This record gives sequence, C-alpha cells and structure tokens, in this order.
Amino acid sequence: MSAPPTSQVIRVQRRSRVLVSSTLTCLSTLPTINLTAGCLHDCAYCYIRGYRGYPGESTATLYEDTPERLERELERAKVKPRAVYFSPSSDLFQPHPDIQRCAERVIEILFEHGVGVAFLSKGEISERAWELLEAHASLVQAQIGLISASEDVALTFESGAAPPAKRLEQMARLVRAGIRVAARMDPVLPGITDTDEELMRLFDAVAETGVSSVSVGILIARSKITASLRRATGPLAASVPSMLARFKGGGSIAMRGAGTEVGVLPAPEREAIIDRIRRRAAARGIEIRVCACKNADITGGSCNIAGTWPRRPAPRQFQLPLAASRGSERTEERPQ
Ligand code: SF4
Repeated sequence: MSAPPTSQVIRVQRRSRVLVSSTLTCLSTLPTINLTAGCLHDCAYCYIRGYRGYPGESTATLYEDTPERLERELERAKVKPRAVYFSPSSDLFQPHPDIQRCAERVIEILFEHGVGVAFLSKGEISERAWELLEAHASLVQAQIGLISASEDVALTFESGAAPPAKRLEQMARLVRAGIRVAARMDPVLPGITDTDEELMRLFDAVAETGVSSVSVGILIARSKITASLRRATGPLAASVPSMLARFKGGGSIAMRGAGTEVGVLPAPEREAIIDRIRRRAAARGIEIRVCACKNADITGGSCNIAGTWPRRPAPRQFQLPLAASRGSERTEERPQ
C-alpha cells in the first residue's frame, strides 16, 4: 500500500503515556492507544477535524517512539491490561509505510505481553500485520468501518480509505482467521447511505463475508464536520446540502461521556432510520447494535466498539490517566 502523493507524516516524540483511558463510556473498559494525531484517510465526516491537535487534511503526526515507550510501560505494569483499544481518532492502518511499521511493531509488542488488540479500521491491513493478527486470532477483536458498499460513496466521503471491496475482502479474511469481527456503519449519511437500495446492497455484501453484526451510528453535526462535508467533491457531493438541511430543527444532545453537545436529526427521524436499518439487516441475518453515545436520548446499551473481553481482577496497579485530563498526545475521542 502506498501513501497518496499529497500526504504528509510529521514525526514527533511522545510527551505523555502511551496507554490512557478514554472518557467515553463505551471505551472505558480498556486502555487506548493513539499512534497518530490526524488520519490520512481524510473522511469528510470525520469528527477529529474539530479536535485539539488535528494537523489538517492529508497530514498525520506520528508518535514514532510509541513502541519503545509501550514496551517500558508494559514491563513496569504489575497487572497488564487484558486488551487495548486502538483509538478511533487515528486509524491503525493508514496508507503510509512509517505508520504501518509503527502499528505492526506495537501490535507485536502487545501480543508478546499477552495483551489483546481491539481496533476499528477503514484502511488496508499490511501483510506483516495480517501475519500477527492471524497468528493471535484469539487475542483480536476487530471492527471494519463500512458506511456503504458503493464506490461512489467512498470516492465522495472517504477519499483516502481503502475501497469498500477491499474492506469487505478483509472482513471475510478476518472471519476465516477465526477473529471476532463486526462491521461499523458509522456514520449513516441520511438520504445517501440509508436508502433501501443502499442498505440491501450493503447487507448483502456484509452477509457474504460471514460477518453477522453491524454497529450503527447516525451522522452528527458539528461546524467543522458540516464545513468539510460541504467541501466534498465526487459523484455524490450534490446530495450534501439536502442532507445537512435535515439537521435544522433537530437540535443538539449531549454526547455520552464526551462532555460535548452535538447536532442531531430530530429523534423521530433517527428512530425511523434505525428501524429501517434494523429490518433490512435482519432480512440478511445481521444483528444491529446502535451507538448510544450519540443517541443517548433514544437508545441505551453499547455498540460494542471495544469488543467483549473476559474480566480480570481490578487492575489497581495499572491506573491510567484520563485522556481528557492529561496527555498532550490525546485528542478527544469518539466512537465512529
Ligand atoms: S473516520 Fe476514521 S478512518 Fe476516517 S479519517 Fe477519521 S479516523 Fe480516519
């Protein structure tokens, strides 16, 4: 996999711990790791655009000393975490060889210490990472981000991510390897990716991979996100204004665990979208889990973003600093 010609990676040393806990409820059970600030996938709807430390389009700040620091932290820990979650604020498998090498080494170190790996990715997994993941299948839980099976959607809104066909192929390979994998349809782009035709195409394709669980979240509106969506180019760019117009009158709700308000569609519209998605998925034998962090007013539970891991005794010796309160490398986190 090669980096897009315009992408830029800035290498820096970390100034704080590698393993920190997230403020988000659904990620609070595992420590998280950010390998980068920013993400080369440049999704037009990505929430990190509004975060502290976002380096800009097609740019990622790589914390290049992460492997060495992680190794030291794990060696010092009296009780190791059962697993870590690779923060969804920076995709683990971005299209740049330096980021890939760093990701591979970090995964290798975690497995050497018997620590599991949970990740969400829209990228192309490198062959070395595949070797590691397949050799430690019982220590891996994956979500593959897939908002649509349509190339036009990807070309318009996820210009730097792996093509949907590649992501589907990877889902099937993860299933074959015995790795627990779910798809993540987040965000649903109202009026664009939730039409009956789109949903049937997506769930047909997901069902073919052997994946039977899809986590769902609907687009939220923040000023940097809506501005970025309005700048989107590509075959479906003309659909953006009418999609965003639907958010007028929706108001805002508190994002659970993040301490921020986000713009949302009116609750009845969100409920109708989720209901339609649930019915279309059920017709293909697929279970839906809704992101409650962004829909606390209409649903509860968890989208299972970090997977389900066996309990260990409370790791008092492994106290982690909160992401929001410390750590210059921490960008605000959100499930996506
Ligand atoms: S949505 Fe995920 S994959 Fe896309 S740019 Fe943001 S962090 Fe990267």
